[in-house]
Amino acid sequence: MLYNRTGNSGLLLPALSLGLWHSFGATSDHANKRALCRKAFDLGITHFDLANNYGPPAGSAEEALGEILATDFKNKRDELIISTKAGYHMWDGPYGEWGSRKYMIASLDQSLKRMNLPYVDIYYSHRFDPNTPLEETMGALAHAVQSGKALYVGISNYPAKQTRKAAKLLREMGTPCLIHQPRFNMLQQEPKEQGVFKAADEADMGVICFSPLGQGLLTSKYLNGIPEGSRATLGGFLKKDQITAPLVEKLRALNKLAEARGQTLAQMAIGWVLAHEEVTSALIGASRPEQIEDAVGALGNLKFTKVELGKISGLIAS
Ligand code: NDP
Repeated sequence: MLYNRTGNSGLLLPALSLGLWHSFGATSDHANKRALCRKAFDLGITHFDLANNYGPPAGSAEEALGEILATDFKNKRDELIISTKAGYHMWDGPYGEWGSRKYMIASLDQSLKRMNLPYVDIYYSHRFDPNTPLEETMGALAHAVQSGKALYVGISNYPAKQTRKAAKLLREMGTPCLIHQPRFNMLQQEPKEQGVFKAADEADMGVICFSPLGQGLLTSKYLNGIPEGSRATLGGFLKKDQITAPLVEKLRALNKLAEARGQTLAQMAIGWVLAHEEVTSALIGASRPEQIEDAVGALGNLKFTKVELGKISGLIAS
């Protein structure tokens, strides 16, 4: 594993991190959840990323991790970076989502209880709240650190302008913003195009990119149809009708390019994300341990020639 410095902080994050958004809900097999975490850790993936609402039901991924930490990671807490977030709907009534101090602090307390932890390493505001003063949301993050419930703080899905403002506020509060967590992959490049990478870089923050595989699109999974049990068949955020014939054409061409590099498409997609100098870590998901092995194989070839980058851009734009 490679470990990259997060912004200008003292914290090193693995070039690959494991997210528990999918495959860790109450109906998923517990033995598989344990196998995923163990495989990741054995390969040097020291960072597990959660949020209050991961499941289903919301909260169950944190509960699962709490159990796994107790059974499989005894005495390993200091070798792990565990993050959680609050921002999306978590409980009924006016205090169960967005960015108020009330919600942010209550949600962190609930997350700690579910994971049976005294603190998380990184606590995130999961989304910008246009109706709460940013001072209040950032103040709640700073409070989490001051009260010993988080070591670092981050923001996720924040546009460039709010990223700059959040970074300034947190710096003034004495709790620098460690990291930004946007979605970024070959098919979805908004953080690069809309200035989020630049804003994070200028504020000395690290960047951890979620869905580097486009939820599985940027793997060999959908090149010849939609396999039963794949994420696109589960009725979540990835829909079957997104997998159009022109997209599959594109993916097949990208797959050929990956083969020419001696990689799988998933490995090339991860390598491409990590080739951006602002990026600290690619935050992958997995439904099987072998997928984590495949992903880690990306580290074998992280260099792209100008010709390859040009071909990738051309294919994506086509
Ligand atoms: P990816 O883009 O890495 O997609 C992961 C999925 O792709 C897997 O679950 C699997 O799906 C498929 N896959 C992975 N490897 C392979 C392979 N080698 N071959 C074939 N298929 C493969 O990331 P996610 O979308 O899962 O997001 C990762 C993490 O990012 C989340 O767990 C979460 O922590 C974070 N996140 C943060 C968000 C935010 O708002 N901050 C939003 C979304 C995610 P299948 O089930 O089909 O096998």
